[in-house]
Amino acid sequence: MKVLKFGGTSVGTAESLTNVKQIVNACKGQVIVVVSALGGVTNQLLQMADMAEAHDEKWEQVLAEVKERHMKVIDAVVPEERQAQCKAVIEGFISEGLYSYYGMLFANSQLPAAYKEQLRDAIVSHGEIMSSAIVTSMIDGAVPHYAPNFIKTKDVDYERILDNRTFELITKEFGGRLEPVHVTQGFIAEDSTNGQKTNLGRGGSDFTAALIAAALDAESLEIWTDVDGFMTTDPRTHPNATVIPEMTYAQAQEMCEAGAKVIYTPTLGPVAIKHIPVWVKNTFNPSARGTVILDPK
Ligand code: ADP
Ligand code: ASP
Ligand code: MG
Repeated sequence: MKVLKFGGTSVGTAESLTNVKQIVNACKGQVIVVVSALGGVTNQLLQMADMAEAHDEKWEQVLAEVKERHMKVIDAVVPEERQAQCKAVIEGFISEGLYSYYGMLFANSQLPAAYKEQLRDAIVSHGEIMSSAIVTSMIDGAVPHYAPNFIKTKDVDYERILDNRTFELITKEFGGRLEPVHVTQGFIAEDSTNGQKTNLGRGGSDFTAALIAAALDAESLEIWTDVDGFMTTDPRTHPNATVIPEMTYAQAQEMCEAGAKVIYTPTLGPVAIKHIPVWVKNTFNPSARGTVILDPK
C-alpha cells in the first residue's frame, strides 16, 4: 500500500486533476490519496474571514468566485453521472457551512477571540473538505474518509500538538479495507478533547500523509507537487536549481528546517522512524524520476 499526497497546484485546475486521476489509476496496489485544497483556496478562505471581521461585505463576492471555481472543475473532471451529486455536496458545504460562519463573523464584531479562532478553524477546513469531495467523485470506486475522525490534536500549554491516539485511529480507519483507492483530506484535524475542528498548520497536508503512511507501514509515501523533485535550492528564486536524485532523511530534514518548502518540516519524522521511502514527484511531469528520501546506505 502506498500513500500519495497531492498539493494545492496538483489539484488546482481541471488539467492538473486529470493528471492526478491518471497517476492514481496507474498505481498497481492499494493507494491512499491525501489532498490539499485547490491552489490558493486556503488563502482565500482566510482572507474572507478577515474581510467579514472587518465588516467588508465583499467576502460574499469572493465566496461566489470560490464556489464558481469548484463547480467549473466538477464540470470538467467528474464523470457526468456523478456531477449533480458532487455539486449538491459542495453547494451544501458553502451555503450551510461557510456562508453561516462568515455571516457570524460579519454580524458580531464583539465575538470573543477564542470563538473567532474556532470559526476560522472551521472555515479553513472547508478547502480540503471540498477538494477531497471532488477527487473522490472523480475516481471510479474511490472510498472517502474524513480526516478529523482519525487525525487528532490537543492543546497543551496553549500549544497545539498531535494526539497520540492518531496512530491507533488511522489503523482502525484503514485496516482491513480491501478497496484499491481511498481519498482523504490533508491538513485538517479535530481536537480530541472538545471535538472542534483544528488543523496541522499551513502546509500540513504533507504531515497528514506521513502520519497515515507511518501508521499503516506503507511501502512508500509519494509527495506529488509542482517541481521535478527536491532541488538544491528553491527553483522559483534560483532558476539554475537542480534535482537531487537521492537524499537521506537527515539531509532532507536539514533543508526543510532551512526553509525548503517542498516538504512541511514535521513530515519526515514519522516516516523516518518506520524507514518508509519518501518520493517527491511532479504531477505535471510524472515521468521525471523525482527524488527519493531514505536511510543512509
Ligand atoms: P504543494 O502545494 O504541492 O504542497 P508547495 O508550494 O508547498 O507545494 O511546495 C512546492 C514548492 O516548494 C515549489 O514550487 C518550490 O518553489 C518550493 N521549494 C522551495 N525550496 C525547494 C527545494 N529545495 N526543492 C524543491 N522545491 C522547493
Ligand atoms: N491547504 C493548506 C495550506 O494551504 C494545507 C496544505 O496545502 O498542505 O496550507
Ligand atoms: Mg506544501
